[in-house]
Amino acid sequence: MRIITFATLGILCLTWISGASDLQDRCDKLSQGQLQSVIEFLAADVLEGRAPGTRGGELAEIYMHSLFKQLGLKSRFQPFTLHGFQLSALNVSAWGRELLFLEDTVGSYTRAENQFSIEGDVVFAGFGIRTSLWEWDDYKKTDLRGKILLVRVNDPGLFIPQIFDGSTLTYFGRWIYKIEEAAKTGAAAILLIHTTPTAGYDWQVVKNSWSGEELYLPASLENDLKFRGWIREPSLKSLLAENKIDLEKLYRKSLSRKFRPMDLGFKIRISGRNSSRQLRTRNVIAEIPGSSGKSIVLSAHIDHLGRDDQLEGDQIFNGAIDNGSAVAAMALIARIFADAGKELHYGLTFLACQAEEAGLLGSKYFVANSKREEIAANINFESTPVWEKSLDAFAAGGRYSTLEEAVRLVAAAQGLGYSRFSLTDQGLFYRSDQFPFAQAGIPAIWLSAGEKFASGRNHIAEFFKGGTYHTVKDEYNPAWELESLRQTVKLAVGLIEHLNRTRELPRWKARLTFPVQNPEGKSVKTINK
Ligand SMILES: [Zn+2]
Repeated sequence: MRIITFATLGILCLTWISGASDLQDRCDKLSQGQLQSVIEFLAADVLEGRAPGTRGGELAEIYMHSLFKQLGLKSRFQPFTLHGFQLSALNVSAWGRELLFLEDTVGSYTRAENQFSIEGDVVFAGFGIRTSLWEWDDYKKTDLRGKILLVRVNDPGLFIPQIFDGSTLTYFGRWIYKIEEAAKTGAAAILLIHTTPTAGYDWQVVKNSWSGEELYLPASLENDLKFRGWIREPSLKSLLAENKIDLEKLYRKSLSRKFRPMDLGFKIRISGRNSSRQLRTRNVIAEIPGSSGKSIVLSAHIDHLGRDDQLEGDQIFNGAIDNGSAVAAMALIARIFADAGKELHYGLTFLACQAEEAGLLGSKYFVANSKREEIAANINFESTPVWEKSLDAFAAGGRYSTLEEAVRLVAAAQGLGYSRFSLTDQGLFYRSDQFPFAQAGIPAIWLSAGEKFASGRNHIAEFFKGGTYHTVKDEYNPAWELESLRQTVKLAVGLIEHLNRTRELPRWKARLTFPVQNPEGKSVKTINK
């Protein structure tokens, strides 16, 4: 008995030094049932894909609220309003030529009228980028009020590797940025030019994601941009060819810093039928306070794509991995800290956010209504791996801040390597809930067990690129090992302990590839390594 006691003491001393802990041991002891339960419920058919404003979406909110309460945490709803718009007909025409809805063009008319028609001069605006980070300005203060803008997606770095971040997509290459920037110019409409290499996905993906209802936060509609849409490159080319305009020539001009918006000398008419509504949805927030007055926000979105009645066979987008497993990771971390009841320097805020799939709307709303200086960092979970053990970890977005070094240390202490996420060309850092935190100047990462799985397979890349991501095939599987989910939980627990022990306040360290507001609301320029 005595020997065991000494041994236990020895282990205790060692854990204080090395950072291994009782909390991390709890991760090793999580049962298969505990790892499964949240995913199993959220991915059930009865939740019908958890779209915001639907019965299933509301059930997911109530479930999280109840789960947090069950853990003994204070939980609250954060309700917010969204505007929804859906086209039933769209006609884009010039010179008597008409483009077909869904085949050639898609979009969203963001006003309440049921019938609409916009006509305007067509202006090619290059990449539609304006940033001091790379001394690039496609707009050059041109008066674009009432114009219809044609804008390329991606950024010039895809074509000239020495500028921007080379082939790594920056935020300035994202279509969502192009729309935000176009809205500041007074333009009436934007048509994003779709090509598979610049978008990173084929027309089918654009068509699928823009054929239903589009949701917006009211603040993003307070501008003159009434129509936001896409046009297929071959369809645009045929339209331009009618007036002998060579698109390739325009493209070449857009690769220069000297580029200016080009009036193409003709008008486009965009008309169609539209329906609109307002809906209420809710984030769910639980807190464990800390002594410093600052907290680390752990986030995971509870919504997914809902259901599609047009589909034959399975119509439900269950979103088991996107994002059931990530919510499971967050909930298990909440359980571990709630059970342990330890004093914390940095408190923990658990944000189960809504409407991520509609454009990170729940996390945007949360950040806009939080005090920036009270948030030390954001650790987001997205499509958390559910498979075998991984040999490493990644922190998407970690390279911008001191969080990467912290994750590297924690991973090493847990016997894991560290590698950067391989899918950087997809801009995934900008596409989940860590990003609104980063935009507000809060160091943020998407934390996950990594892509080097024990068997040599890359399950994560297979999920994103192999036809499961955002399809009805993203379903719960009781045979999943869930070891990489457990590892993700343990990494986060280790990282939270590390930040609490060192009292380190994460900060930016590298050149940023997106615009950031610091606490004073000024934009942060380049921060050198
Ligand atoms: Zn997701």
